[in-house]
Amino acid sequence: MNVLAIDIGGTKFSMALFQDGKMTRRETHATQREGGREWMMEQIVRIAHQMRKGVEFERCGVGFGGPVDFASQRVTVSNVATGWQEFPLAESLGNELGVPVVIDNDGNVGALGEAVYGAGIGYDPLFFMNISTGIGGGLILGGNVYRGADSFAAEIGHITVRPGGSRCGCGSDGCLERMCCGMWIESDYGKPAKELLADPAFVRHYVVDLAIGLKSVIMLLNPARIVVGGGMSKAGEALFVPLHAELHRQITAWSRARIDVVPAALGDDNVLHGALALAEAAVGK
Ligand SMILES: [Zn+2]
Repeated sequence: MNVLAIDIGGTKFSMALFQDGKMTRRETHATQREGGREWMMEQIVRIAHQMRKGVEFERCGVGFGGPVDFASQRVTVSNVATGWQEFPLAESLGNELGVPVVIDNDGNVGALGEAVYGAGIGYDPLFFMNISTGIGGGLILGGNVYRGADSFAAEIGHITVRPGGSRCGCGSDGCLERMCCGMWIESDYGKPAKELLADPAFVRHYVVDLAIGLKSVIMLLNPARIVVGGGMSKAGEALFVPLHAELHRQITAWSRARIDVVPAALGDDNVLHGALALAEAAVGK
């Protein structure tokens, strides 16, 4: 089966063609926020038609950078751009492409990608956290995405880590996303995230809030593994060594829950691989 996989994010979007599970084409472009939904839909349809000139695809999977109501296959809200609120993305894209489309939040889709094809293979329950422009999460339980009652499960970005802290995009104060995501730390510290993470003094301070967020996950779920993806996870040992030390400081020896926190194995492609898995699951493989 050939699948078109799409990753719609706040700063960039990617599209890939998988032929029998193998990625044969891939492209990434910057997201024009001011273009809104119309612009994004135009780009996706144009690139999809280009890709299918060589190879036809039968399914399409999409990871969207914002809350998605999985049951109705609609985007709930989005900070990515305007015009997405309550948008029936799967239906609309399905009509344009003429193939079945399945969508989910990119945190869930990234989790699925790492669980099926990446650093989460063999680990269940698996928790996935993506630290990039914002912070997303996904939980794989019994081989399936756990979405909760309203498709809002695993929204780790909006766990409060600093009561009374700075105002988050969601309207609350001191959320993990507000304290730790790329967009906010760059605006708070006036430097690129990559440069900040190269500074050990900054990282020692940074991992405290990050560990508070991850501790909640470990205490609540006792996951077999936590996979951390997104641009920030590319800092490698410079981030993960201090993060482990801080987690071991915050989580006392009383807890026998494992502290297994590793970088994503699929780099920038976990949402694309997850979109493949989502589309495959939709037809029972
Ligand atoms: Zn928030």
